[in-house]
Amino acid sequence: MAAAQSDRDLPSTLCSEFLNFSAKDTASRWLVAPDLQQELYRHLALYVPRIFCLGPSRGSSREEQREEQREELACQLLLLAPLEWLLLEEDPAAGLALLQEKNLPSPLCGHVFKVGEPTYSCRECAADPTCVLCMQCFLGSVHKEHRYRMTTSGGGGFCDCGDTEAWKKGPYCHKHTPTDISRQSQEDPVALLPADMVARGYSIFSIILKYAVDMLTWEQEDQLPEGLAPPEREDTYYCMLFNDEVHTYEQVIYTLQKAVNCSQKEAVSFATTVDRDGRKSVRYGDFQFCEQAKSVIVRNTSRQSKPLRVQVMHSSVVAHQCFALKALSWLGQVIQYSDGLRRLLCQVGLQRGPEGENSSLVDKLMLNDSKMWKGARNIYHQLLMNSLLMDLKYKKIFAIQFAKNYERLQCDYVRDDHDREFSITDLSVQIFTVPSLARMLMVEENLMTTIIRTFVDHLRHRDLQGRFQFDRYTAQQAFKFGRVQSLIGDLKYVLISRPTEWSDQLRQKFLEGFDAFLELLKCMQGMDPVVRQVGQHIEMEPEWEAAFTLQMKLTHIISMIQEWCSTDEHVLIEAYKKCLSVLSHCQSSLPDGEQPISLSLAGHCVETFRYHVSQDKVSIHLPVCRLLAGLHVLLSRTEVASRFPERLPLGELSPPLLIELPLRCLVLCAQVHAGMWRRNGFSLINQIYYYHNVKCRVEMFDKDIIMLQAGASMMDPNHFLMIVLSRFELFHIFSSADCRKRYREANKDVVQQNNTLIEEMLHLIIMVVCERYVPGVGQVEPFDEVRREIIHQLSIRPMAHSELVKALPENGNKETGLEKVIDSVASFKKPGVTGRGLYELRPEWNKYFNLYFHHYSRADQSKAEEAQRKLRRQNGEDTALPPPLPPPLCPLFGSLVNLLQCDVLLAVEGAVLQWAVEPSGGCWTESMLQRVLHLVGMALLEEQQQLENSNGDDDVTFNYTCKITRPGEAPSTSGSVLALLESLQNAPHLEVHKDMITWILKMVANIKTMRERTSSTSTVTVSQGQGLEETVRDKDKAERKRKAEMARLRREKIMAQMSEMQKHFINENKELFQQSLEELEASTSAAAAENSPPSLELSCLSQVSVGPRRVCGAERRQLVTCILCQEEQEVKGHGKAMVLAAFVQRSTVLSKNRHRSLPDPESHDPVFMHPDLSLGIHTASCGHIMHATCWQRYFEAVQLKEQRRQQRLRGHTSYDVENGEFLCPLCECLSNTVIPLLPHSHSPHPSLDHPGLESWLKTTSQQIAALHSAHRKQAGDVTEGAEAAAPEGFRVDFTPQNPFSTSINEMITTFSMSTYKVGLKVNPNEQDQRVPVLIWSTCAYTIQSIERLLMDEEKPLFGSLPCRQDDCLSSLARFSAACWTAAPLSIIHKHFTRLFSALVPDPQVENTPCILDIDMFHLLVYSVLSYSSVSKLDQTGQTGVDSAHLHLLHLVTVAHLVQILLTSTTEDVCMEQDNTGSEEEQLTCKLYSTIRQHLGSVLPEVTSGWQLFHCVKVGILPFLRAAALFFHYLNSTVPPADLLVAGPGQWEALCSYLSLPSNLLQLYQSHHTLLEPLIHRWCSHPSVRQTLQGSGVIIRFPRVSNRLIELPEDYSILINQASSFTCPRSGGDKSRAPTLCLVCGSMLCSQSYCCQTEVDGEDVGACTAHTFTCGAGLGLFLRVRESQVLFVAGKTKGCFYPPPYLDDYGETDQGLKRGNPLHLCSERYRKIERLWRQHGVAEVIGHAQEANQTLVAIDWQHL
Ligand SMILES: [Zn+2]
Ligand SMILES: [Zn+2]
Ligand SMILES: [Zn+2]
Ligand SMILES: [Zn+2]
Ligand SMILES: [Zn+2]
Ligand SMILES: [Zn+2]
Ligand SMILES: [Zn+2]
Repeated sequence: MAAAQSDRDLPSTLCSEFLNFSAKDTASRWLVAPDLQQELYRHLALYVPRIFCLGPSRGSSREEQREEQREELACQLLLLAPLEWLLLEEDPAAGLALLQEKNLPSPLCGHVFKVGEPTYSCRECAADPTCVLCMQCFLGSVHKEHRYRMTTSGGGGFCDCGDTEAWKKGPYCHKHTPTDISRQSQEDPVALLPADMVARGYSIFSIILKYAVDMLTWEQEDQLPEGLAPPEREDTYYCMLFNDEVHTYEQVIYTLQKAVNCSQKEAVSFATTVDRDGRKSVRYGDFQFCEQAKSVIVRNTSRQSKPLRVQVMHSSVVAHQCFALKALSWLGQVIQYSDGLRRLLCQVGLQRGPEGENSSLVDKLMLNDSKMWKGARNIYHQLLMNSLLMDLKYKKIFAIQFAKNYERLQCDYVRDDHDREFSITDLSVQIFTVPSLARMLMVEENLMTTIIRTFVDHLRHRDLQGRFQFDRYTAQQAFKFGRVQSLIGDLKYVLISRPTEWSDQLRQKFLEGFDAFLELLKCMQGMDPVVRQVGQHIEMEPEWEAAFTLQMKLTHIISMIQEWCSTDEHVLIEAYKKCLSVLSHCQSSLPDGEQPISLSLAGHCVETFRYHVSQDKVSIHLPVCRLLAGLHVLLSRTEVASRFPERLPLGELSPPLLIELPLRCLVLCAQVHAGMWRRNGFSLINQIYYYHNVKCRVEMFDKDIIMLQAGASMMDPNHFLMIVLSRFELFHIFSSADCRKRYREANKDVVQQNNTLIEEMLHLIIMVVCERYVPGVGQVEPFDEVRREIIHQLSIRPMAHSELVKALPENGNKETGLEKVIDSVASFKKPGVTGRGLYELRPEWNKYFNLYFHHYSRADQSKAEEAQRKLRRQNGEDTALPPPLPPPLCPLFGSLVNLLQCDVLLAVEGAVLQWAVEPSGGCWTESMLQRVLHLVGMALLEEQQQLENSNGDDDVTFNYTCKITRPGEAPSTSGSVLALLESLQNAPHLEVHKDMITWILKMVANIKTMRERTSSTSTVTVSQGQGLEETVRDKDKAERKRKAEMARLRREKIMAQMSEMQKHFINENKELFQQSLEELEASTSAAAAENSPPSLELSCLSQVSVGPRRVCGAERRQLVTCILCQEEQEVKGHGKAMVLAAFVQRSTVLSKNRHRSLPDPESHDPVFMHPDLSLGIHTASCGHIMHATCWQRYFEAVQLKEQRRQQRLRGHTSYDVENGEFLCPLCECLSNTVIPLLPHSHSPHPSLDHPGLESWLKTTSQQIAALHSAHRKQAGDVTEGAEAAAPEGFRVDFTPQNPFSTSINEMITTFSMSTYKVGLKVNPNEQDQRVPVLIWSTCAYTIQSIERLLMDEEKPLFGSLPCRQDDCLSSLARFSAACWTAAPLSIIHKHFTRLFSALVPDPQVENTPCILDIDMFHLLVYSVLSYSSVSKLDQTGQTGVDSAHLHLLHLVTVAHLVQILLTSTTEDVCMEQDNTGSEEEQLTCKLYSTIRQHLGSVLPEVTSGWQLFHCVKVGILPFLRAAALFFHYLNSTVPPADLLVAGPGQWEALCSYLSLPSNLLQLYQSHHTLLEPLIHRWCSHPSVRQTLQGSGVIIRFPRVSNRLIELPEDYSILINQASSFTCPRSGGDKSRAPTLCLVCGSMLCSQSYCCQTEVDGEDVGACTAHTFTCGAGLGLFLRVRESQVLFVAGKTKGCFYPPPYLDDYGETDQGLKRGNPLHLCSERYRKIERLWRQHGVAEVIGHAQEANQTLVAIDWQHL
């Protein structure tokens, strides 16, 4: 039982047939065959199994790809080419071209979208949001200038360009605009083809399509259809694994490794393919062999769920299925060339088969859809889109077939477990959204009814009353429920565009659909009822989400159905009747049972049900009521009510019945607020939340208010209010004084509950009367409603665009109407570099503010109240917030105003005011009073309004002012409402409401005068009482001012007390680091004081930083304070060590060569830095200083804490303690080491010698020779010549004294080890010779990177660095100079001799790189720092190190000059220029010709000294600047004044500061006899010639600073780029998370199995892997699909960062959810760039993780 060896010879036998095979001859043979199908099948039977599926499929991609290519080629040559010949009767290439030329294409674009491709929709012109354009069409369309929306496609779907039904305007782009010659849509494109081709095409298409359909729907594993059986049958099988959505990747991978014994990599590859294509063969061999694998897989995956689907299939069956897919793709390609052929294929596909109805080939495919694997589905769906949906005639026929099969397809889909995008049902969006098709299907196929019925059929689980019952759902039913929801989406498509014209048939079918819809709503009416839980808390939270999901999904449908109704009177009337009758049916059981109770109050009586929300069942789901409420408003809006009252069943309406259920629901909310339903758990809280939420409220809460308004307008207002009182269970409180008393004595909870209920009830009354912004209720337009919504949102606070959008309900087109009105009410404030743009309400709209706006939550309300009062106070106004003037009501709702002046309300008002006058025992609240005052205000406004609009007194029906002057009736027998108000005006406990009461009383006075005037003269304006008003106002102002002053004094006193306490506290807790940050900044800058700008006097002198003439700026004592113990300490070499918290990291920020691979840590030789700076070590510090001992204690504590934390809960912190990381104890800045502070060096003694260059060179050479021989002797090598004579006083065996205390030495080792460890990525090893080099390296690299930053930001070289960087560089430089003390002297000597040999070639030193491969600044720093070790051996005391430093600087500068001249000669430098140059130019020329003498024609001839000199000057500047920084920090020299400012004059200052001649060429000229031989030896290094001739990377100077990559202005360009990006590993597959490296521009396939690689033995994602090659472990990326910046550091750390793209409203769109066009904000991008260049990314990650712990848990390494 062995695996059948794949027969690799087979292809080669096929090869010979390739050569002999002639497609043309085969085609001609077929042409004359009597039975083409038989002939074709014979051909396929012979060849298909010999081309496809010849062996095992492997996981490794290379081989697989080659195999695929071979199949592809053979398939084209042997199978498809003859078909093409047959079709065209000529060479296919020529024939197809001709076809295309003659084709008159339809103007449809039809571009099918790839996953992730950008799509555009115009918010102004698209018929619905599903109408989209491809990028190309969009850019050529008028919509580019409109408000558009951009999204990324989920794959599938196509461009609607050219579809006139999809666009209200501009349906064609430039490319697809129909021209005159393009075919009329009526003309048959088939007629344009030659008749014989039509005949041939017809038969070929019929045969091939049938073949493909048969093969794809073939269910036998071992047999083939008739005529296709292979001539010779072998025992070769495949074990085929199918995709399902149940098993995870990991499960599949694990199982495969077990079952087919493959590597993990192969298993991953198999799993990826199964997921992508839907199936994959995982084993090839004889039947037994495959069966065995199958059983293992089934066994392994059947434990928890149903097993993975596996089939053992004969290889010939698989082969034919493969070819069937190829054939379908081929058909799709061929029809692209000709619309005639396309139509022909459509005809073939839809032709009814022999089995009658629904038996065409397309039907067969559709009906088998759910049985096919993903790959097959994708290909045939694509073909359907390319053919049927692109042909207007057949699109219709196909639509009808689709509708006929609709129910069956949906059932299949619901049972299937694939996502909808892989189902044929997903095509509904392409068909139903075409309005004409949707209408046709509705009329002819009764589509609306079909969809709704199919939907209802799938939800079978009902209770006794036939209502849905979701809480009894099993997991499987719930899954089904999830899938069946897509039907609602289809219904939405059908309804999305309203008909402009109605036919009788459409009316009939719509109403039929409406009936079905009412049936659906009936099943929802009253579902999930709740009963108040008393005593015990509920045991299990009842299910509520399913019902609300359904409600949410249906919200748009309900609104759309109402819109449809509003366009036709007949339909509206019929729908109203139907709805009413269903409602009556639903409510038929309501009045049953007990006797009604009768209520009486204020002289009025009414009868009502005996029902208590707090005791009986109540449901929040009342869709039938609410639909009726919606239709009722439409009756008013369309004026149908007033025009055809006789056709309406108004008489059948019973207002008390209508309001009953909505009222119960509102009371339920009030009781929940009052805390009466606490024991019912979160389920109810959630339901109430969604009831009010913007997603549901339009068809829930809003409609309930409307229903109350409708009912109230048809009833006696007193009766209405009494019913409301009774449902709120408050009637007794207002009906008898007794009760009130009893209630006062009841327990506290009950009192509080009742208070809240009274508040809620008053609020409800306010809403019922005041909410008139629905067109039909009030006389308003739809945009008034939106505008009011916005005004109230902005009254809370200024808001961003997206916040406003979220607060507004969207319609079915995802529009809120916001844009139309926003600019009229608000002004836009642009964002800065952070934050977002905000809209602010214009002050003139403040008067529309209504404190009791119905969409405010309680929290919103109190925020808005506070904001508004504050605003008024700022404007010096009173703080009354009176109700705004409401719009007039529509006639149908006109009588609502009477609520305001009815007796029952007056009684309620009177009662509350009376309680306010004599508040006692907590059974009264200010909120109650406030609401009553609001109601009074509303009534007064109404009366004033009527007076103003009336001509005489007689048409004013409102006389509230009159009524409130009457004394109250029983039970509140006290004074009149007005009298009560007057007495409350000066009540001391009602200070807050004083302004409002004043406002009311003024209104009353005004109205009185108006009434008096109207009785005498005509209309009167309100402004009459202004004089009086003024004085009142002034008085109020003065009073307010006095109070404000008092408040201020009080505040100051408290502040003083607080600060006193604080001081005390600080004194008490000095050991603890409790001090504020600012104070400590001040104390640490004591260390920085030495760097404070020099006095004028000093800077006038010429400052020199290097050489014997240098002056040390700061000789005074250096005092610093430890942030941990607060003690001051002087920095001394022998003192207690002080350290600076620091962070060392590898860096590639300056790299000019990202292709260089990382050095091998073990063998890397760091002594010479290559000028490409491909990898450096950067050190940064937050500048906070501690005692070394204090820090050690702190760090130990951190370690201990971490150990304990790890034991408790596994997980990460934002810092990695094991790697020495900690957070600075003061500023929490990420750190991983400390730098010890060392004392300043002293000025050189003036008596010291300063030897000339020549003698110094001589001495040094002697010294080096002596060192060489000493080392040889040490090594025991005595064979070599005589001992070199050491110069006088030079003792090679001298051991200098260590100048530092042990504690400082200890810290020197600490920092050394950190740089060593981080820089080389190795374990600490104090013995390693490379340790000191790495410290010098970080010193040089950090200075270089800071120099670049200062240069690019055009900041002065000195004085502009922040303290912390200054401190860091200063201590770093001094530290580097001293670190040699920690290593054996001989090692430093060795380094120095090697470094020196690069300048003065030394035959005893090997492997010295050529000067083109050395970064000169690094060389300077290393040699200066290592020289100290040599000078220590000189016991003469004659010369100081300073002379040596100066000579080294001179030598390196000359070497750099030569380096620049060698590399800067490009063609453009050689331009002709006049020869009369300055001295500098002549000298440059001279030096250049010297170099050319050595290198000859490798360097071009240059005649222009000016050009050359310019190159030199520009090229060397960064070096000089860096050197100036270095010596400044090394020698603590005061910088010259010219370098403290940016701008001109720098060159001279720089040269003089460095003790260099300002004509640098002088350096060479004055010593040229000495230097000439050196230059000769530099140039004759063999590598120089090789590099210049192109064998190495030439680095040119100045090195251009690295920047992040350029990003396009328009974000969609990026999306488009990303959409065409394919995963580099899994051949041509689209990447799911394309991610762009911002440093180098690579696109990566992130967050995916396919692109994981191993780094240091761990699997990491593409991003993390990339950071190791591109950023030495640190990376900045843009996740393109998410529009999100990603920072990654190492394997475990990362964070997200806002992207530099903003929409027009100044907001980012992380996750691309809103789809507004996004544009690059360059300031934000520069900010990110600066962060990177300043090496601040790791710190940002640290802070982000510290602030947000969830970031720590993200699996960054797999991104
Ligand atoms: Zn297009
Ligand atoms: Zn187009
Ligand atoms: Zn447009
Ligand atoms: Zn300390
Ligand atoms: Zn700090
Ligand atoms: Zn990169
Ligand atoms: Zn990939």
